[in-house]
Amino acid sequence: MIPLFVPEIRGNEWAYVKECLDTGWVSSVGAFVDRFEAALAAYAGATYAVACVNGTSALHMALMVAGVKADEEVLVPALSFIAPANAIRYVGAWPVFMDIAADTLQMDPQKIQDFLTNGCDFKDGVLINRTTKRIVRAILPVHLLGHPADMDPILDIAQRFNLIVIEDAAESLGATYKGKKTGGLAHIGCFSFNGNKIITTGGGGMVMTNHEPWAKRVKYLSTQAKDSPSEYLHHEVGYNYRLTNIQAALGVAQMELLPDYVAKKRHIAAYYEQHLKGIEGITLPREANWAQSNFWLYTIAFDEGAYGAGRDRMIAKFKEHHIQTRPLWNPLHELKPFKDCQAYHIDIVPRFYAQAVSLPSSVGLTQEQQDRVIGVIRQARG
Ligand SMILES: *Cc1c(COP(=O)(O)O)cnc(C)c1O
Repeated sequence: MIPLFVPEIRGNEWAYVKECLDTGWVSSVGAFVDRFEAALAAYAGATYAVACVNGTSALHMALMVAGVKADEEVLVPALSFIAPANAIRYVGAWPVFMDIAADTLQMDPQKIQDFLTNGCDFKDGVLINRTTKRIVRAILPVHLLGHPADMDPILDIAQRFNLIVIEDAAESLGATYKGKKTGGLAHIGCFSFNGNKIITTGGGGMVMTNHEPWAKRVKYLSTQAKDSPSEYLHHEVGYNYRLTNIQAALGVAQMELLPDYVAKKRHIAAYYEQHLKGIEGITLPREANWAQSNFWLYTIAFDEGAYGAGRDRMIAKFKEHHIQTRPLWNPLHELKPFKDCQAYHIDIVPRFYAQAVSLPSSVGLTQEQQDRVIGVIRQARG
């Protein structure tokens, strides 16, 4: 069986975890937590990085420190893993679902601009959604499948309308936008180190920001909002969202390998592209000229009419050949918890979702395995 994605453990993971076990520093503080945070800050180009228990908690805290409050609204792409939409609900706010652009398959800045200009009223520095009457507070772009969203126009629109931008970089560690790493491009950014991400700590997350008070507040909220190191004094409700030293030890080892992993992922993508391009009815991922993707999950679209088989038939076909593939996430605006949320002119998301299949994309994928995947696609045609 060729899996869709498995972790790649081949560096100092054993040595660093053993160090935790040998020294007794296994829990929620320790040198590896500090080292992991420093490594991420340096790599992604943010001044501060605060480790936490997973990417979802990173998003939850980012929304809290950015000041998103109950009954306010946050713009988010309709195509994404559900975590950012759930995190928006954790603070009592509501997602407004936005479309992706046909060329980049990332949140469409033009539609954001249209919505904010034609669907909202800007009064006294506050943006009010004309349909729901709620305050629009933030934009939460997700770098889908490891390709960066077009951040400059989004940051520009946000500045004009006084909105916060929260970057969900969970899938895009190592990708660059106009030469800069994702995760440090906006007011605040989030990473995930779940087992299916480019590097993993088993489970883990990180909040990135250049704004010191926000970084301090993330640390504070993640440690039960403890106000004094020695006395159990708490002035507000906090969370236990800390990452353990053992997990951070894995993270430090994985960070040492990240440049290799990104190069390997780009090589895998180039090989798929070289052997799949020109096949009628399939669309390969494209990289914008301002982007370098980490090709987190290499995802291609099958046009049933032109190719001769659609998404579901191809996934079944791959399964027959012991190859694990996957459709993308159900469009979020169609899911039960978000059915009543506003969705703004969403045309591209359902079209892409209906055709998209993610192919095996592990860092350790061999050329032989890739040839098997490519063989199925060539053979199934017609
Ligand atoms: C993986 C992921 C997250 C965070 O997931 P966790 O499992 O909580 O670490 C958030 N957003 C996106 C887009 C993701 O892919």
